[in-house]
Amino acid sequence: MQKHNQKEHLYKLLVIGDLGVGKTSIIKRYVHQNFSPHYRATIGVDFALKVLNWDADTVVRLQLWDIAGQERFGNMTRVYYREAMGAFIVFDVTRPATFEAVTKWKEDLDSKLVLPNGKPVPAVLLANKCDQGIDVLMNNGIKMDQFCKENGFVGWFETSAKAHVWHMDFHLSPAGMRDGHL
Ligand code: GDP
Ligand code: MG
Repeated sequence: MQKHNQKEHLYKLLVIGDLGVGKTSIIKRYVHQNFSPHYRATIGVDFALKVLNWDADTVVRLQLWDIAGQERFGNMTRVYYREAMGAFIVFDVTRPATFEAVTKWKEDLDSKLVLPNGKPVPAVLLANKCDQGIDVLMNNGIKMDQFCKENGFVGWFETSAKAHVWHMDFHLSPAGMRDGHL
């Protein structure tokens, strides 16, 4: 129930990365707490809404945008990125090529979108399918903290849409972000 003096914040967040890395599954897990092992490519742009009761006075609505079949770079991504406040860039730990694509996604994002204050959009790296136990990062000796620093990611998390170890911790204060009436 909405209280009289309750503040609402709406944030558009992008979930991007190569086809099949688990973007749709992560969104489904986070928003609907379920997982389906059946592969189906998402068609069309899609978004899911997650409502967080941040504190007694604040409601945060996260609009999670699923790139939905537009998993190649082109002018479509520009439209899709518009007015986003943050992005998750996802790769599949079992497929090294999807990790190599991460920097391309970051460049595509930064070349087409900046925050109203002129800064780059905060991007978090998600190493998905960590339930699979085949870790391309470990095998290649990649230091993720260093990778994030060098490529402008605010941080990274190992995730699994399947095993439900994924959690999204927001260390950003809603008051510190632009009031996102999109
Ligand atoms: P998208 O193309 O990035 O949206 O990827 P999907 O969400 O459609 O997932 C692609 C395939 O990977 C599907 O068969 C999913 O069931 C599977 N998948 C997604 N996330 C995970 C995960 O964390 N662990 C495992 N084992 N499979 C996953
Ligand atoms: Mg999808």
